[in-house]
Amino acid sequence: MTEKRYTGRFAPSPTGDPHLGTLIAAVASYLQARVNHGDWLLRIEDVDTTRRVAGAEDAMLRTLDRFGFEWDGDVIRQSARTAIYQQALDQLDAEDLVFPCTCSRKLLAQTAVEQSGIYPGTCRTRQLPFAHEHAIRLRVPERTLGFDDRIIGEYRQSLATECGDFVIKRRDGLFAYQLAVVVDDALQGVTEVVRGADLLESTPRQIYLQQCLNHPSPAYCHIPLILDPTGRKLSKSEGAAGLNPDRPAPSLLAALNHLGQQAPEELGHAGTTDIWQWAIENWDIGKIPLAHATLYNG
Ligand SMILES: [Zn+2]
Repeated sequence: MTEKRYTGRFAPSPTGDPHLGTLIAAVASYLQARVNHGDWLLRIEDVDTTRRVAGAEDAMLRTLDRFGFEWDGDVIRQSARTAIYQQALDQLDAEDLVFPCTCSRKLLAQTAVEQSGIYPGTCRTRQLPFAHEHAIRLRVPERTLGFDDRIIGEYRQSLATECGDFVIKRRDGLFAYQLAVVVDDALQGVTEVVRGADLLESTPRQIYLQQCLNHPSPAYCHIPLILDPTGRKLSKSEGAAGLNPDRPAPSLLAALNHLGQQAPEELGHAGTTDIWQWAIENWDIGKIPLAHATLYNG
């Protein structure tokens, strides 16, 4: 049997201007794909159309282009894939894995298990009919799900007590990110997901969804986030000033150095072709520092 071709992806949300944090995730996923002689797919994660910012997708594509990224195949947009997500939901419903939830935001705030935000299972056994104004949740089992992250190592989560039954279709009719990302990764044949460590906590539920839908699980690499001095994730507005499409070299070097790659300083005056050539020849995922990532694992 031949091994499946490496397929990676970069999946930004068009919710603001691209910043250094965006670039770091793009660089890491791109280099993993190139070093493994695989494909690098580009997917616009705009399933939550209420958060879309006008012009943000164009700015993202233009910036990636100016920074010398070359993606494979057509750009996919989640907002155009509703029928595909509905099929997945129908499959889950046919196996009785989902239930409608009529809880209001206020009720959820009052009943969440010890202020944790974990859904207490209120509608689990109520046998409510499916209706448009209901959210739909996936029932999770009493099970601890773990996976071996290539950067962070083993990560485990109790689905019942740390995740809870989670929303896969929202009350407003939009599909949840958690369902869309699992369906898209599977249908696009993604073999390895390289993304920011802010999504680490979502990974066990995504793996559980993959199992419910009979999809294989990709490998995972969660990249340490850029944090502001108070230890919070760098916000888009704070980091936006860092990316200048007319001067890509300094930002590319900053991204490589955040990823522990020790790029030579003279590359700061080089063109993107030379930077990418150096980066592909020298990329070592084992050099990515763990220091920041541990903040998200405890
Ligand atoms: Zn409910």
